[in-house]
Amino acid sequence: MTSETNVLRKIYLDDYSPILGEAEVDELRALAHPLHGHTVQMVNSTALGGGVAEILTRLVPILQELGLSVRWDIITGGNEFFAITKAFHNALHGGPYPLPPESFDAFLATNEQNLTRLRMDCEFTVIHDPQPVALIKGRENNSGHWVWRCHIDLSRPNLTVWEFLKPWVSKYDGAIFSSPEFTKSLSIPEYLFFPCIDPLSEKNRELEPEEMRAVLERYRINPRRNILTQISRFDRLKDPVGVVRAYRIVKRYFDCQLVLAGGKADDDPEGETVLQEVIEAAQNDPDIHILNLPPWSPTEINALQQASTLVIQKSLREGFGLTVAEALWKKKPVVASAVGGIPLQVIHKHTGLLAHSVEGAAYQIRFLLSNPALAAKLGQQGHEHVREHFLITSNARRYLTLFLLFLRAGK
Ligand code: UDP
Repeated sequence: MTSETNVLRKIYLDDYSPILGEAEVDELRALAHPLHGHTVQMVNSTALGGGVAEILTRLVPILQELGLSVRWDIITGGNEFFAITKAFHNALHGGPYPLPPESFDAFLATNEQNLTRLRMDCEFTVIHDPQPVALIKGRENNSGHWVWRCHIDLSRPNLTVWEFLKPWVSKYDGAIFSSPEFTKSLSIPEYLFFPCIDPLSEKNRELEPEEMRAVLERYRINPRRNILTQISRFDRLKDPVGVVRAYRIVKRYFDCQLVLAGGKADDDPEGETVLQEVIEAAQNDPDIHILNLPPWSPTEINALQQASTLVIQKSLREGFGLTVAEALWKKKPVVASAVGGIPLQVIHKHTGLLAHSVEGAAYQIRFLLSNPALAAKLGQQGHEHVREHFLITSNARRYLTLFLLFLRAGK
């Protein structure tokens, strides 16, 4: 099968039965029954790149198959808008906010422009992350049910940005967070939804050995030597340079190759600069493979994860880190930073190992490379942990339950 036919392969709800059991799939259908024909709108800022797009790509068709009428809209904006929203993102993760107060007006102006373009007339509207948060202004006569889905770790936000956003968030009927620790004190109800992966998607399905081999050959990666991999957008908060430093320490003790694979998201203007920083840090080491992947590369990412001896996620801040769930699902031993939503997935010494520094990450990588039996056990336990908590079907169930709750409660 070529990767193109795989991409086009349609996935049906019944295909999940062997993974989840038939009863769970039937339960989803039963839950969705009262919602047949009800309209839902999902809005975010990019169709490709990053975890939100990854989730919506699979969540939307599943909800549609369950009988809901779902539309997915993407807001548009110029370079200035995405520079502002990237600065929001960094500041909400605790960094400084370097832009002047007028940037807030420019942000609101772009949201207004999108309101003239988008129809906001569904019964349930889910706005993802801060970029489109002010679209709530377009809600007419307090109609419909509006919820803000925050995928960011808001536990220590820069107050300049959070105090600007909070009044907008407070206009919603509810806010969804990825971890209890990310919640804020708000006047509206708050819900906990774990992010999720689709086990049947092109990115996570089990590949044939020759499919994997083809990808490794294309990037000149040797499958007979240790492969350490981090998959991430080129973003400083993912600390790719820190990964290179950890690799250099490990390399003193073990033969290994490092794969840093990522791409750039449409809504992230810093990608190119960070990519250059990583290339510089690698200093032409032939065993460091820096792969700037095209935005749609699920087969390549899947193959790189499946071929890895060990997967790293050395983020400095992280909303959730879908790449961790993807690696665990593939039964890979994972060494990751204890930040954001990662500890929900990597339970130290049970489903992977946590680290707090470059040296700590290098230590844990060395430990796992010298204990392959333990590494395999952590990977197996990680797979079960993902099956239980972080699959797309659980996420769909959460949305259905929330919509039913709204429906029953009326306005
Ligand atoms: N991803 C991708 N191409 C890339 C880098 C990442 O498709 O070049 C995917 C990755 O496999 C994962 C998602 O994008 O599914 C990233 O989600 P995560 O929560 O790890 O990080 P985010 O980018 O949202 O901060």
